[in-house]
Amino acid sequence: MNTFLDDASALLGPRGLVTDADLLSPWLTDWRGRYHGRALAMALPGSTAEVSALVKLCARHGVAIVPQGGNSGMCGGATPDASGAQLLLSLRRMDAVRAFDAAARQVTCEAGVILETLHRIAQAEGLRFPLSLGGKGSATVGGLISTNAGGTQVLRHGTMRALVLGLEAVLADGSVWSALTPLRKDNRGFDLKQLLIGSEGTLGIITASTLRLVPAVAERIVVWAGVGSIHDARALLLHGEERLGAAMEGFEVMPEATLRAVLDYLPDARAPLERSHPWHVLIEVVADRACAANLRERTETALAEAFASGLVHDAVLSASEGQAEAFWTLRESVAPAERAKGPAVQHDISVPVERMPDFIEAAVATMEQRHPEIEAVAFGHLGDGNVHFHVIAPPGAVAGAWQDLEGKAISAEVYDMVAEWGGSISAEHGIGQAKLEELERLGDPVSLALLRQVKAALDPQGILNPGKLVRLAPLGATP
Ligand SMILES: Cc1cc2nc3c(=O)[nH]c(=O)nc-3n(C[C@H](O)[C@H](O)[C@H](O)COP(=O)(O)OP(=O)(O)OC[C@H]3O[C@@H](n4cnc5c(N)ncnc54)[C@H](O)[C@@H]3O)c2cc1C
Repeated sequence: MNTFLDDASALLGPRGLVTDADLLSPWLTDWRGRYHGRALAMALPGSTAEVSALVKLCARHGVAIVPQGGNSGMCGGATPDASGAQLLLSLRRMDAVRAFDAAARQVTCEAGVILETLHRIAQAEGLRFPLSLGGKGSATVGGLISTNAGGTQVLRHGTMRALVLGLEAVLADGSVWSALTPLRKDNRGFDLKQLLIGSEGTLGIITASTLRLVPAVAERIVVWAGVGSIHDARALLLHGEERLGAAMEGFEVMPEATLRAVLDYLPDARAPLERSHPWHVLIEVVADRACAANLRERTETALAEAFASGLVHDAVLSASEGQAEAFWTLRESVAPAERAKGPAVQHDISVPVERMPDFIEAAVATMEQRHPEIEAVAFGHLGDGNVHFHVIAPPGAVAGAWQDLEGKAISAEVYDMVAEWGGSISAEHGIGQAKLEELERLGDPVSLALLRQVKAALDPQGILNPGKLVRLAPLGATP
């Protein structure tokens, strides 16, 4: 291994290779603190050419690579295993904007650009990158593409799949696949970029991409509404779609207990409504300059109708950008608030949108009946048929031990229910190492065989992020 490290060091220079245990340590544990790994070293290449040369070196030495962006992923996908033999490949130094074309509404940037930075760059040019999520201060473009991230604007703008126009990636043999120039129409066979989007670093290392931008927001209103049930929340969603159309960009829900947990976590925050309500809905309504007229009036009318029909019990419209941000801070603090509260098992699941209210009620009731000591909560992107279904451990449960024993069995029960309801065990966070066994247990055998064939074709040596998303052979299979 010393030869490998010497060669890597010669290739990347002093800034490009970290072996110091203290400097490595923060990058060896995932955001949720569930997975801890070891690594041979952390490589920080500064260019696509360096990534390419490094991957060729790894292929020659048989060294497995774990790509990493901001390390904000939720499934342990960017955490190396415990062997200490894998190389962590961080793309964070590759954070250049290569081209910005305001007229074409597109930006070409490297994989290490942080989402919040991308928001600022687009805004400065009167444009907007229409994808946002709680981890925006850390998540990188490469990570967002590799996990096909969703977030809070999928309702109107789709997931990363819909926003990536072109891609550049280094493949497992070190070759550079470059398809950064977007074409509106291109029917030369398979759409290879779509194969790489959502592949969690198992098929290639994304080094740059061309992304779609949209006009900046001219007016934005954030509504916080209290409703009586999750069924009413869904009815409000339909009402909003009918009355506000494409202006309604985000539709998020959380139960009262989750709002309370967030308010405990953020001592300076205030509840948006005076009284408590079984469910809370956050609605983002936006318009660009072309259609900003009457946005507030239209939103107020839609809400007044919802009041009149009893769908909404109470509601407030943001009166300023500061208040709009304050409402979003409550939503975006759900994950850290829960993390601070204690151990839990998290399930990022989807079922057909129209079945979601019934699913939430059935799943919460079933879990709390079977395990009376736990608390089950669902919150998130109701508009997309995707919620985060979390089961919170009883008070006093020991982190790690509880998740490995009771938590694992509870997760299997949740995923069984999701499968029965025709849903997905991963709506937006991916599979990583956290859900690999469940994917293999519940996945359709033909789909799993296809995943393995694709992996074998693109990474026959199995050096790209092994143990995540897809194994070349299922565990226990004789080679
Ligand atoms: C508070 C909070 C809220 C969040 N909310 C959401 C949400 O609403 N929706 C959502 O979808 N996600 C959400 N996330 C999860 C996370 O932000 C996304 O998964 C994000 O896409 C990860 O980006 P990253 O750069 O941190 O990737 P990492 O965590 O570093 O990596 C994630 C995966 O991508 C691979 N990878 C990273 N970079 C590359 C690359 N350049 N080439 C190839 N593979 C690569 C890694 O190997 C790993 O498998 C949230 C996270 C936090 C902390």
